[in-house]
Amino acid sequence: MNNLLSESIQQITGQLKNWRRDFHHFAESGWFEFRTATIVAEELHRLGYSLKMGQEVIKADARMGLPSAQALQDQEQRAIKQGALTAWLPHFSGGFTGIVATLDTGKPGPTLAFRVDMDALDQNEEQTPAHRPYADGFSSCNAHMMHACGHDGHTAIGLGLANVLKKHESQLIGKIKLIFQPAEEGTRGAKSMVEAGVVDDVDCFIAIHIGLGVPQGELACGSDNFLATSKIDVTYCGVASHAGGKPEEGKNALLAAAQAALGLYAIPHHSKGSSRINVGVLQAGIGRNVIPDHALMKVETRGETNEINEFVYNQALNIIAGAAKMQGVEYKLELMGAAQSSQPSPRWVDFIYQQARQYVPELSSVVRSRKQPAGSEDATYFMERVKENGGQATYLIFGSELSAGHHNERFDFDENVMTTAVKTLATIAFHLSDFEG
Ligand SMILES: [Zn+2]
Ligand SMILES: [Zn+2]
Repeated sequence: MNNLLSESIQQITGQLKNWRRDFHHFAESGWFEFRTATIVAEELHRLGYSLKMGQEVIKADARMGLPSAQALQDQEQRAIKQGALTAWLPHFSGGFTGIVATLDTGKPGPTLAFRVDMDALDQNEEQTPAHRPYADGFSSCNAHMMHACGHDGHTAIGLGLANVLKKHESQLIGKIKLIFQPAEEGTRGAKSMVEAGVVDDVDCFIAIHIGLGVPQGELACGSDNFLATSKIDVTYCGVASHAGGKPEEGKNALLAAAQAALGLYAIPHHSKGSSRINVGVLQAGIGRNVIPDHALMKVETRGETNEINEFVYNQALNIIAGAAKMQGVEYKLELMGAAQSSQPSPRWVDFIYQQARQYVPELSSVVRSRKQPAGSEDATYFMERVKENGGQATYLIFGSELSAGHHNERFDFDENVMTTAVKTLATIAFHLSDFEG
């Protein structure tokens, strides 16, 4: 089996690179993955997977940080011009850019799900010859959209895995589900898929990421230090007035936001673990001699556990409300994204660890976990739901050399990592009957 698998993976290596470079060139940020989603759907359909798409796998009102209806429409038009396959587009229209592909082997066995994300970031890509994607002609052609986190690679890995699993279907048991998620950046998309029930029947779950500070050639089988997080947009609305003539008639939204920002950084630490607070954006005011009637603040809270994040979040709500009261202004709060903390299932991590060590010689090192710099990841919603239902879940990180850090305009990764990832994930699927769930 191992030789056959290696052969299939060798055959798909060029295609992995082609997909990755195509998705990279036509980078699409969260909820705008129209072109990407149609290409993914077409390939999975061609392979014979049964597909659920759009509103079947995304609960509309559980989407967070959704762009305006106008922006969604404009981006859909842009995607059409860039070669989106229009037959599939109606499924994804309006920001429902998710796909779940199922392969039912017809044999008894667990349901195994793999989740990859598809979105780019809202940033411009470096366009100089020193940056390989530019030098090789596949840097992003879309302004303010760039694959600077490797999700282009994740999407390609998902398609590569779909190919290999289908080819060796007779070796598999149970059901395989491939989940292609939109809008991971800003932790906005996963919850809507979880609430649509896409992992309610899943026994074993794997999410993946490449890079993240893990050394080239290494696999971390159970990443466990994602922070729980909440992203909120706060808008203060006051009353504008002449700053010299009638200051007493104004209600100062800028001051409310400024006081809130200072108050937020004074939230106490929690004895049970680490927390974070950040006010990343504060925009306010209209003119030098006008009492500012409008302010926007973009805030995020994080915590080592859900409990700690909730503590910080609730404190933040008090401070935001208190600052409004101090200035007599109104305020509006919008939750733009959220993720949980989640611990991988130890026996599942152990199984993957053994499999990877035994069958994937391309990996120079396999570890159970590695403490990488803490961020957040909304795959934790899938993990927690699967575990609540008695299943097993984990998060794999495939190490890669990076040309610059994640979310940097010069980000790029070693494309060989995609082949190693497909081989590892396929190996786990092929040996699933050895896992004592
Ligand atoms: Zn990222
Ligand atoms: Zn990422």
